[in-house]
Amino acid sequence: MSAGTGLTRPRVVVLGGGFAGVYTALALEKALGGRDDFEVILVNRENYFVFQPLLPEVISGSIGITDMVVPLRRLLRRAEVHVRDVEAVDLEARVVSTSPGFRPQPHRVGYDHLVLGLGNVTDFRGLPGLPEHAMPFKNLGDALRLRNHVIRALEEASIEKHDRELRRQLLTFVVAGGGFSGVEVAAELNDFVRAVATSYRGINPEEVRVVLVHSQERILPEMAEPLALFAQRLLQKRGVELRLCQRLQSATGTEAILAGGDRITTRTLVSTVPASPHPLLEGLPLSKGPGGRLVTTPELRVEGTANVWAVGDCALVPTPDGNPAPPTAQHATRQAAVCAHNIVAAIRGGDCRIFDHRGLGTMGSLGHRSAVAEIFGLRVSGFIAWWLWRTVYLMKMPGWGRRLKVASSWTLDLLLPPDLVELRLRGSQGLSREHYEPGQEVFREGDLGDCLYIVLSGEAEVLKGAPGREQVLTQLGAGEVFGEMALLEHTTRNATVRCRTAMDVLRLPKHEFATLAAHLPDLRASFEKVMNGRRGAGSK
Ligand SMILES: Cc1cc2nc3c(=O)[nH]c(=O)nc-3n(C[C@H](O)[C@H](O)[C@H](O)COP(=O)(O)OP(=O)(O)OC[C@H]3O[C@@H](n4cnc5c(N)ncnc54)[C@H](O)[C@@H]3O)c2cc1C
Repeated sequence: MSAGTGLTRPRVVVLGGGFAGVYTALALEKALGGRDDFEVILVNRENYFVFQPLLPEVISGSIGITDMVVPLRRLLRRAEVHVRDVEAVDLEARVVSTSPGFRPQPHRVGYDHLVLGLGNVTDFRGLPGLPEHAMPFKNLGDALRLRNHVIRALEEASIEKHDRELRRQLLTFVVAGGGFSGVEVAAELNDFVRAVATSYRGINPEEVRVVLVHSQERILPEMAEPLALFAQRLLQKRGVELRLCQRLQSATGTEAILAGGDRITTRTLVSTVPASPHPLLEGLPLSKGPGGRLVTTPELRVEGTANVWAVGDCALVPTPDGNPAPPTAQHATRQAAVCAHNIVAAIRGGDCRIFDHRGLGTMGSLGHRSAVAEIFGLRVSGFIAWWLWRTVYLMKMPGWGRRLKVASSWTLDLLLPPDLVELRLRGSQGLSREHYEPGQEVFREGDLGDCLYIVLSGEAEVLKGAPGREQVLTQLGAGEVFGEMALLEHTTRNATVRCRTAMDVLRLPKHEFATLAAHLPDLRASFEKVMNGRRGAGSK
């Protein structure tokens, strides 16, 4: 019998469907074998797993957009998959709350063992202008956005023939961060823009600038110096400008501003730094180390807990040499196996294992059929390293189907010119219109507060109480606003809104409302006044 959920068997809930989370769930599935003595639920924002090492290749289109993602349901055969955002974790009650789906109601998932594998985030806080103007590069959406943006910049530059300053901005591409991901992004971007620029009659490829900004004396600090220097020389030969010992400090829509005051005119700024721990973990009363990562024991338990485990980029895992494990896919997958083993040992009884993976080596692609690699102490660079890089990652892709897709994309890429299609994916994320019929409920008492509504036409009633015994609190009509209370107080809805007539509303999602309220104190104050007035009327 499960202690945490009251179910007949223990439940393991894994948060995050990246390398750490997915490989933990896979190892747990394997451990289940023919038995059924515990259940596994994995919660992830997307319904797919991203093979991040190949993400930079999406920029140039050398692999298809979905070649390096695998649907979670194809990977996980026995675990239950919840495609939702994790919104909160209550460690005392052992419950995870996930975001509303089509119904604005909280979904709560109880657990006996909790695995935190939420990765890290690119955090631009404290760097003026970066949240607005710099593009992160972490997931498939980021890669697609960057690719589309770069193609748009080229399209615009080919039209704007006479505005020299604008052309300079459009044809300069800046990447901040000289670690693996920054270098791979800069290399792919450089290859791509230089290759496709020849397809635009209005662009002279000589006008293209790709700049890599890095705060240390050399790029790829994770690698041995000779390999990093090889990478530097190669990138420079291909036209990448290196700005070493310089740090990106702020940005505007047209400039990347460095700490020393240098300004690089650009309309495309990608930043792969700084990486911060997941914001959800910040608020949890768990042991945290440098950079806010969760401190674990060598068995992968979060220090001071019995049933909370952490793996991957969000975890600070000790290794036998005394240093924490680096945040790489290689380490995340090994941690996942140890974590799953130890959870099964905790459920069934048995010995725990400790994480003692020492790292097999490092590899980084430099585009244009070259790479740098350091494997089992052996250092290689150039074409052989590139071949090794591709072979290793191809074999590491989960499933033969994906391997086949990637291999055929790579083969075609050797023969065909890069694709130039700009996918316009603009969907309405902000303010939207909604229509309701008489009797329909906009939301129910107890639902999650996920947006604010403005009545355009029609009428509704605000009701309180159990169905059948509801009391009408007030009426709403055109020009009135409702739904503010749950947003301002971060609580669930305290009343039900049901339409009396057909009603049209404007719907503003919680995030956009929070942004407006944070920057317009008068707006926030006026909503608080409405809220207090309503609360006063409700209590009479
Ligand atoms: C461009 C790039 C290239 C890289 N190249 C290499 C390489 O060559 N070799 C290597 O070893 N490593 C590489 N890495 C690093 C490697 O990808 C990471 O170390 C690894 O992905 C960490 O796995 P993770 O599961 O901890 O985190 P992630 O892979 O980031 O997974 C976290 C998951 O949690 C989900 N999530 C986050 N918040 C929520 C929420 N609130 N609700 C629901 N789900 C949520 C995310 O959607 C994601 O699926 C690269 C990384 C990048 C960005």
